[in-house]
Amino acid sequence: MQTRREFLRTAALIAIAPHLLAETENEIWLNDVHSQLNRTRVRALLKPRTHDELVDAVRSGSRKDLPISIAGCRHSMGGQQFVSDGICIDIRDLAHVLNFDRERGLIEAEAGIQWPELIRAYLDLQRDSAQQWGIAQKQTGADTFTLGGSLSSNVHGRGLAMKPLISNIEAFTLIDAQGETVRCSRTDNYELFRLAIGGYGLFGLISAVTLRLVPRQKLRRVVTIVEATDLARSFEQRIAQNFLYGDFQFSVDEKSPGFLQHGVFSCYKPIDDREPIVAEKKFRDDDWLDLLRLAYTDRAKAFKRYSDYYLSTNGQTYWSDTNQLSAYLPNYAQKLREEIGGDESSLIITEIYVPRASLIDFLVQAAELLRSNRTIVIYGTVRLIEKDDESFLAWAKESYACVIFNLLTPHTSVGIEASARSFRSLIDLAIARRGSYYLTYHKFAKPEQVMTCYPQFKEFLGLKKKFDPSERFQSDWYRHYRRVFGS
Ligand SMILES: Cc1cc2nc3c(=O)[nH]c(=O)nc-3n(C[C@H](O)[C@H](O)[C@H](O)COP(=O)(O)OP(=O)(O)OC[C@H]3O[C@@H](n4cnc5c(N)ncnc54)[C@H](O)[C@@H]3O)c2cc1C
Repeated sequence: MQTRREFLRTAALIAIAPHLLAETENEIWLNDVHSQLNRTRVRALLKPRTHDELVDAVRSGSRKDLPISIAGCRHSMGGQQFVSDGICIDIRDLAHVLNFDRERGLIEAEAGIQWPELIRAYLDLQRDSAQQWGIAQKQTGADTFTLGGSLSSNVHGRGLAMKPLISNIEAFTLIDAQGETVRCSRTDNYELFRLAIGGYGLFGLISAVTLRLVPRQKLRRVVTIVEATDLARSFEQRIAQNFLYGDFQFSVDEKSPGFLQHGVFSCYKPIDDREPIVAEKKFRDDDWLDLLRLAYTDRAKAFKRYSDYYLSTNGQTYWSDTNQLSAYLPNYAQKLREEIGGDESSLIITEIYVPRASLIDFLVQAAELLRSNRTIVIYGTVRLIEKDDESFLAWAKESYACVIFNLLTPHTSVGIEASARSFRSLIDLAIARRGSYYLTYHKFAKPEQVMTCYPQFKEFLGLKKKFDPSERFQSDWYRHYRRVFGS
């Protein structure tokens, strides 16, 4: 971790003597965590620890006319957090809870806070209170995401009837390109509010966020095995029975007829507060690594192991917020390579949205496509999302089914292009059904696919320039689209 002295020194170098940077600093290379396919060289990596230091960092970029990118936990996979030869501001040291309104369930925290710290903090603060608040949703599959990064991708969890995260955001504080602090909410600077949420760090640096919590509840997990043909009906039934969360984790065994069709359907229903929490069976980091190893080497066994485990947890009870925490091994790719051997590889995620009525048909065609492209799916789920009618670059344009695929991608030009081809074909399948895809995970989509799924994209780039005419906040993701759309 950078000390304050190091921070000031780097900031001072940029402010006073940028020519010294190359001579005094080693080259700094950054990368995303999950795919490790976005290696980027930056001029400086700053780690401010206070709001004033954040302002300093933004202003030092302005003084020397260097572009700034903003990074949280570096889980996005399209180069959204890094700008080549610019300054990268890592916000993870800004991680304090600033205010907790226990009457209204509003919690304000610095944007670098990660979900486990946030949950721990509010549980401590309300330990003696009858009224318990908790987060409505967070991402699944990992916990180390910052609040700022989550807001900027407008993420979602596995709620059965929830809109993306914007629906849980009350307000945030943003530092703009001039270093001025601006408060954004539904009543203050609403245009900026709806642009910055899901705006991938291009409208300013979010320093603090006020999140709207929901009553914390006890839940029972109910697990069944279902076929995709019954999935839409099964989701509807669970929603009608007041289940709050759920997903379908499909078989990734491409040799079996159950590939993408047969899966573990687990949903969570509120129970009486007096019931005890009993969740003895739990996958830990090592169990996940074992499962991942099987998914690389024997996907039939992997699905069997996974479904057996899930079925064994049927009936367990959980708290609605802590149940959303999950194991993740950031160095999974390296560990598996050491054990299994083979080329360097990792997983790239993609998330495809289709109208719920088209889900079965989409899964059938997606299975054919992935088989014929010989694409290996390591893990995948189906969830639901409700329409987002607020954020500017909304991905949840309708109430969709969300289909998530983790594709095994060798780190060779052939391997990366093969995954990219499958991603583009999956997007085409979605477009044929009036669906869409998520911008967070890669930038492999063809320009016409971007424009079909996000017809407001060029306007988005125009508004970025309106709010940030000097293009202080940039990323390689932004530069890619600026080039593609000639903006
Ligand atoms: C294993 C895995 C599972 C995932 N599961 C889900 C899921 O279930 N649902 C889902 O919706 N997404 C999911 N994601 C995607 C993830 O939610 C996003 O990539 C999220 O943005 C990551 O947060 P981060 O802190 O790592 O941000 P980063 O990746 O570091 O940054 C993401 C974006 O946010 C911007 N940003 C970060 N902090 C700030 C700030 N303070 N101010 C302004 N801009 C900022 C960055 O510039 C960048 O554009 C998953 C990703 C992985 C790797």
